[in-house]
Amino acid sequence: MTSFVEIPAGSDFPLENLPYGVFTPAGSDQPRPGTAIGEWVVDLRALQEAGLLETDVFDGPTLNAFMAAGRPVWKAVRSQLQSLLSDDNSTLRDNEALRAGAFHHQAHVRMVMPVDIGDYTDFYSSREHATNVGTMFRDPDNALLPNWLHLPVGYHGRASSVVVSGTDVHRPMGQTKPAEGPPVFGPCRLLDFELELGFFTGPGNDLGSPIPIEEATDHIFGFVLVNDWSARDIQKWEYVPLGPFLAKNFATSISPWIVTLDALEPFRCASPSQEPTPLPYLQGSGDRSYDIGLEVGIQPEGADTDDVVCRSNFKYMYWNISQQLAHHSVTGCNIRPGDLLASGTISGPDKGSYGSMLELSWRGQNSIPLSDGSERKFIQDGDTVVMRGAAEKDGLRIGFGECRGKVLPSLG
Ligand code: CA
Repeated sequence: MTSFVEIPAGSDFPLENLPYGVFTPAGSDQPRPGTAIGEWVVDLRALQEAGLLETDVFDGPTLNAFMAAGRPVWKAVRSQLQSLLSDDNSTLRDNEALRAGAFHHQAHVRMVMPVDIGDYTDFYSSREHATNVGTMFRDPDNALLPNWLHLPVGYHGRASSVVVSGTDVHRPMGQTKPAEGPPVFGPCRLLDFELELGFFTGPGNDLGSPIPIEEATDHIFGFVLVNDWSARDIQKWEYVPLGPFLAKNFATSISPWIVTLDALEPFRCASPSQEPTPLPYLQGSGDRSYDIGLEVGIQPEGADTDDVVCRSNFKYMYWNISQQLAHHSVTGCNIRPGDLLASGTISGPDKGSYGSMLELSWRGQNSIPLSDGSERKFIQDGDTVVMRGAAEKDGLRIGFGECRGKVLPSLG
């Protein structure tokens, strides 16, 4: 499959990917849906208005209508786009005026929030991460709590503070408890990232009608990189008895491009084996995980590049996305188009694959050296945290681009 658009070697965005996002072209304040190919963004509303896409889902400033339309429409649009962008189709290739209006170089557009997110849920589905946290804060011999191997643990997060890559994040203020004495108020001192992938939901279900696990992927549109910023000192004081609250609600960064399940289909793989066997409503047939390489870099203020501090993979996740969605809706809870369900921190088996500074520094016991000579136990003001992801096999690379966020001093 080749395109008339030049695809640079190692690009995240070949014709097989075609992720969806929302952008504003230079000199415009009108966000519009687009897809990425090579170094370009293609304006999907322009193609729709030219009569080249048989749909009206790209009228709005978000992808919610497209997500609500469901898998048959997702497949039809993907197929039409792959045909329009292929080098043996002259419709777009030879229409210079249309190409000039619809193609924008990625360096010249601003990526904005692709979705109006109604609800955001964050799971805790990496066994390695949950074991590390349980070992640090409780008991190495009983690191996993009794429910963990029976259900995908999660919590309802905060949708209003989900921001697109490139948005600065202020260090939060909050209440913490010193080892001795009463609680104090001030800037978070233990600011952390969490390396996650999140999925956006499709049509969803009516209140009272759970989504069966075998139908789950019909309700999953695609993935983004997620940085679930976390204030560890605030979290430690507040989380008993009801779990994370203000330690997680100040910002969650996502990558701008949503990579579809259709693009990731060649990278489907098995999850780790589950023992004990989950209850029947959590048993899905076939492979339901994905082999997606992930990394996190820290770029200190003034540095030209980031230092990679973590390399992990989505395939390590114990609970898969179908299980997460089936579990989330099993009470009859209604999932709506454009909800964001994130994986939880994705840690692997070895120390270099831990997906948070909490684990990489082992609760601040170890320092991570950076190439500018500084070292980190947690994230400092001026640091930019960069997450990247790509699935690669047999010369095919389906990439996610980047999820970046710079930490600014607290406003307090
Ligand atoms: Ca998280």
